[in-house]
Amino acid sequence: MAENYPREAGLRPAQGCFINNRWEPSSSGAALPVIAPAEGVIFAEIAAGNAQDVNRAVAAARAAFEGGPWSRLTATERGRLLMRLSQLVTDNLEELAAIEARDCGKPLRAARADIQATARYFEFYGGAADKFHGEQIPFMNGYYVTGEREPLGVTGHVIPWNYPAQMTGRTLGPALAMGNATVLKPAEDACLTVLRIAELAAGAGFPEGAVNVVPGLGHEAGAALAEHPGIDFISFTGSPQVGTLIQTAAARNHIGCVLELGGKSPQILFDDADLDAAVPVVVAAIIQNAGQTCSAGARVLIQRPIWDRAVSLIAAKFSALKAGLPDDEPDLGSIISARQKERVEGFIARAKEQGVPVIAEGGIDPKAPAGGFYVPPVVFGPVPRDNALAFDEVFGPVLAAIPFEDEADAVALANGTEYGLIAGVWTRDGSRALRVARQLRGGQVYVNAYGAGGGIELPFGGTRKSGHGREKGFEALYEFSALKTIVIKHD
Ligand code: NAD
Repeated sequence: MAENYPREAGLRPAQGCFINNRWEPSSSGAALPVIAPAEGVIFAEIAAGNAQDVNRAVAAARAAFEGGPWSRLTATERGRLLMRLSQLVTDNLEELAAIEARDCGKPLRAARADIQATARYFEFYGGAADKFHGEQIPFMNGYYVTGEREPLGVTGHVIPWNYPAQMTGRTLGPALAMGNATVLKPAEDACLTVLRIAELAAGAGFPEGAVNVVPGLGHEAGAALAEHPGIDFISFTGSPQVGTLIQTAAARNHIGCVLELGGKSPQILFDDADLDAAVPVVVAAIIQNAGQTCSAGARVLIQRPIWDRAVSLIAAKFSALKAGLPDDEPDLGSIISARQKERVEGFIARAKEQGVPVIAEGGIDPKAPAGGFYVPPVVFGPVPRDNALAFDEVFGPVLAAIPFEDEADAVALANGTEYGLIAGVWTRDGSRALRVARQLRGGQVYVNAYGAGGGIELPFGGTRKSGHGREKGFEALYEFSALKTIVIKHD
């Protein structure tokens, strides 16, 4: 229970909900503790937003969208505001990175990279705002037809705790570029940078009601937003279970949604792979954010002839890894919460009980506070194909190594989970790379590379239990807009 954690002296008090460019106290009057997961200490509070706060935020967004100053801005002006926000995020990089590192328990350098990516999202979508347009459609003689892209209206956004700042840029950037008015519900486990970015958006000049943030619990503020009849679309990133609730709520309101729900992404090492290039990437792709990345490379599939060599290279790297405090620039930080730590440790304990061999395990920096939620990284293998580690998402620094026979076996194995988000293929054979990439299920395939979460420009999203729809790149501009066909008859 959060109440049992020590409270830091002079902790940051809750600011409230950010509605109409102002901090407004939550109508619940309650606050939620914010725990620094690398320390196990309460260092701040956030408002416990509720359904009434969501009502106010949606009303503010509605007013902004329908007739408010936001609705009158041109695409170029919206783009300039996003550019200004990007600049403000960059100007405040160190402050934001320090908050993100402490709030999420991630290494400071990783938090800095996250804030740079956040700025880049706003820059990318700022630049795109007036370059994304409709078309003229050939039709019968005497008709002029255009297809225009228009905003959806008020968009709801529910984001997770693993990359709070980046997720804000990723989901608000395209929504604002297209002229939607937004209401965002960040995760209760980590959202301090999101609140700060909302304030920066007001500083950048976004008119009242364009950007609203209601912090709070998922089943209160999150559910109230998802179910709100006043929203026109919802974007969600998080667990498949909550994704189902979001999609059900969207169906009841007859609105669209984009869902990004995680994965069990494979990296396939064929027998001709450049292992010196591949292995560092394989390791980085599972320890990034302590494995708490939807597109973590959680499985490494290794062709039998190179099994021994690949495994010994991976083992050498893994056993040297250390989890530690953000400021000490460890290889990886902590898990987000005691609950998630317990969940990850449950997977590890069950696999060990079931006799799945441990290839190598890293450690915890002795300087890391005893109260922090650390899990040493571990690689298991060969993981039997019917073991949970071969198909369930752990969301922790746990890599499953699985041998395969040939190309067909690799494809079947890679596609053999309920997920389909991203994949990596390592081979020197160009034809094989393309052949396999085309057969893999998911939204992104990397060849001789892997980008867990990287690439603002690259459309990203999944299939089935990984969700549907696409964010990032220009594709997100389609998600956050609708096509209207206008047919004009002339003489
Ligand atoms: P979650 O799905 O419960 O939380 C994600 C967001 O949804 C948070 O903002 C939360 O407040 C909100 N939420 C929770 N319940 C809600 C509801 N009933 N209605 C509306 N919004 C609600 O995720 P979690 O419990 O924090 O993590 C559990 C698992 O989810 C992880 O182990 C991992 O597998 C997965 N996860 C995936 C991602 C991802 O990036 N795809 C991110 C975080 C968690």
